[in-house]
Amino acid sequence: MFLPQEIIRKKRDGHKLSKEEIDFFVKGIADNTISEGQIGAFAMAVYFQDMEMDERVALAMAMRDSGTVLDWSDLDLDGPVVDKHSTGGVGDVVSLMLGPMVAACGGYVPMISGRGLGHTGGTLDKFDAIPGYNTTPDNALFRKVVKEIGVAIIGQTGDLAPADKRFYGIRDVTATVESIPLITASILSKKLAAGLDALAMDVKAGSGAFMPTYELSEELAKSIVAVANGAGCKTTALLTNMDQVLASSAGNAVEVREAVEYLTGSYRNPRLHEVTMALCAEMLILGGLAKSDEAARSKLQQSLDSGKAAEIFGKMVTALGGPADFVENYDNYLEKAPIIRPIYAENSGIVTSMDTREIGMAVVAMGGGRRKPSDAIDYAVGFTDFTALGERTDTDKPLAVAHVRTKAQFEEAQKALHSAIKLGSEKPKEEPMVFKKIRLEDTL
Ligand code: URA
Repeated sequence: MFLPQEIIRKKRDGHKLSKEEIDFFVKGIADNTISEGQIGAFAMAVYFQDMEMDERVALAMAMRDSGTVLDWSDLDLDGPVVDKHSTGGVGDVVSLMLGPMVAACGGYVPMISGRGLGHTGGTLDKFDAIPGYNTTPDNALFRKVVKEIGVAIIGQTGDLAPADKRFYGIRDVTATVESIPLITASILSKKLAAGLDALAMDVKAGSGAFMPTYELSEELAKSIVAVANGAGCKTTALLTNMDQVLASSAGNAVEVREAVEYLTGSYRNPRLHEVTMALCAEMLILGGLAKSDEAARSKLQQSLDSGKAAEIFGKMVTALGGPADFVENYDNYLEKAPIIRPIYAENSGIVTSMDTREIGMAVVAMGGGRRKPSDAIDYAVGFTDFTALGERTDTDKPLAVAHVRTKAQFEEAQKALHSAIKLGSEKPKEEPMVFKKIRLEDTL
């Protein structure tokens, strides 16, 4: 029998907690026998005293086990169950293409995605922009779509890692979100509960990243790789570039449009392509569907060139309640903003930097994201045709095209882009899209 205050005291004084103590504490979070004050104090103790990797593994697994853990073994799937998770970005529409591409190559992708958080967009909000698409199907339909189509992208159900839901809510109001062991356990509790064989993590670094510095992004990536593998899920992380908007667009309906254009090949932003291919390739390798990066990329390119990935995307949309001809006629279904107007720079020059976080907040300000969880989203608003770092903009070439409802929103969006995008006379150093790959060996 443990006492919560003794566990808090032990961590406060810098000692290592046992698996039994962690299990007891997480059980108390889930069943409300431990108070909010005690949970806040525990989070602060971890914030200051850290956790060793095996404590983090115990925490992630205990939170995973606080609710339903999905099991795919009875479906007799003929391929691995794999997924990707990103720490969140702006214009990060990767999941919409990645799921169907990996499914086309033999993987099964039960992707449980989230809503937008802060300045970052959410995959679920993008799917809600598709009329009829049901992001909360029952478990039977979710399993059927995964088995028959190979991918289903849906929202989190209430019984998945419920301890994390309560814990995160308390961390959010006690200044304890920014703790690498707690972030690691929080993200992985939900991903491990999906019953995955393998996971590719996309940890963003740069001006639009959740972590404030490159070093902290790398530390989080290493922690996630060590803990996920420690919990029995083969995981690799890619540190990817969030120093500019990833796709050419940022918003909800506009990003869905870009995803369909990517899948059908009518427009493929090279930055988005690089990150998507790198993450998909990692999933194929981890899942045993390809022996090398080169072999994986060749299979993935084939899934695009043959139209199979686009076809799978269309089938998933239909199976989850969306239109039967969405891929062919997406433009008829996605809502358009009444004002679509370019935003030009005040002076011409070369784009030298972007404050991607500020751009994400501009989308939120237009109504494309939420300030608080109960806010409704305006799916039509956002930006398209973003200029890229190193490109010249002038009176012919806009910084981006704004999709807004009112003139006042346009003025606000223009002000935000003028402040967020800096111009100069020299091209900035070209940075890679994938900074680094972190495998289990890199964490030992
Ligand atoms: N996202 C999560 O799911 N949990 C965290 O703690 C931080 C980001």
